[in-house]
Amino acid sequence: MYDLSVRSILYNNYDSLNWVFQWQLIKQLPSFLHLATTTLDDYVSRQFKDIRLKQILEYHSVFLGTSPYKAPAIYSLMSTLDFNSGVYYPENGIYSLVQSLALLGDKRHVTYKTSSAVSSIVVSDGLATGVCLESGEIIAADVVISAADLHHTETSLLPKKYQSYPEEYWKNKEPSPSALLISLGIKGKLPNLEHHNLYFVDAWKENFAAIYGSFTIPEDASLYICKPSATDKTAAPDDAENIFILLPLPAHKNLSNKETAGLTNRCIEQLSIVTNSPNIASRIITKDIVGPQDFATRFNAWEYNSLGGQSHVLSQSAFFRTPNKSKKVQNVYYVGAGTNPGVGLPMCLISAELVYKRVCDIRTTGPLDHVVIGKSA
Ligand SMILES: Cc1cc2nc3c(=O)[nH]c(=O)nc-3n(C[C@H](O)[C@H](O)[C@H](O)COP(=O)(O)OP(=O)(O)OC[C@H]3O[C@@H](n4cnc5c(N)ncnc54)[C@H](O)[C@@H]3O)c2cc1C
Repeated sequence: MYDLSVRSILYNNYDSLNWVFQWQLIKQLPSFLHLATTTLDDYVSRQFKDIRLKQILEYHSVFLGTSPYKAPAIYSLMSTLDFNSGVYYPENGIYSLVQSLALLGDKRHVTYKTSSAVSSIVVSDGLATGVCLESGEIIAADVVISAADLHHTETSLLPKKYQSYPEEYWKNKEPSPSALLISLGIKGKLPNLEHHNLYFVDAWKENFAAIYGSFTIPEDASLYICKPSATDKTAAPDDAENIFILLPLPAHKNLSNKETAGLTNRCIEQLSIVTNSPNIASRIITKDIVGPQDFATRFNAWEYNSLGGQSHVLSQSAFFRTPNKSKKVQNVYYVGAGTNPGVGLPMCLISAELVYKRVCDIRTTGPLDHVVIGKSA
């Protein structure tokens, strides 16, 4: 299923029917349809009874913005990545990916303009002519590609008459969850922690039902605790640890200051229990909190979501996902987690390749061998 997805699904703009007639896909169609219409939990439960095994095979649905009780079993392909490829950590942390991309652009004489929020996309007679910044400056463009939240781009940046996906469209869509992120600098070492640590609650189903069903904060929540200083010596001084805690929260919901403080304390208490460090609070040197409000105001995230777009339920996956091209303005395109193939950094990078294919009218369904950059493209 993983191979099939790479060949026919992930790099596909669904702008031609050629992909449907591929022999590999036709051959695997029965199992493909079965996995598309079965939930991940049903699929895993048929083969595993032990809750710990089920958790290991289902937890990744969180990183697809949904619950194993809603995600199609096709996403069990994420376990292929877990078990066959492993988890990668870029040297010097995830920000080095941003720096590497910026460097590639520099080599191609790309001009970057940071801290310059766009207030609108300027459209004239069905054609975008550029973008207007909040400062009032207008930047002319032949093509506009928005990497901002897709709901924000469509409903706030485009004039109403040019919105292909206006506010009503989003009423039937399901966002990815929000999150509380607690970044801590801790004095002294925490030897009980690995780089990646997942803590699953026994009330597995109830936990997912609260976050993705009733949109409430679960009493007892599963947690991800990351200690990059386990792998990366640049992440913290020798006698300290760099920790971040990720607590998934329901979308649609902001937190009051009191709720944020309460949840932060709860997470730090849990950190103290799992690391067997009763005095951990007194060892905190730095603390930085990012919550639902930050996603909404800093990134214009739709319904406070933290992953950059819609969840990966079947109705929001593959050819059902919001396409990367405006239907009303012919030279406006979208990249990032809101469109195909979906949430997560590798997916967002693939989304850029998909826009490249759209702009150049390349209708192949797999990854490109090479990309032509420059006027000849
Ligand atoms: C805690 C956490 C951990 C994660 N870990 C992983 C991981 O290990 N692996 C993985 O693959 N994925 C991970 N993800 C998911 C991944 O980070 C996202 O799916 C991805 O970053 C989404 O990228 P994007 O480009 O669509 O959106 P964003 O990264 O949000 O980028 C959009 C940018 O557009 C800007 N913007 C918005 N509006 C405007 C405007 N009007 N004008 C100008 N700019 C604007 C925003 O400020 C933002 O910088 C994680 C997410 C979180 C929250």
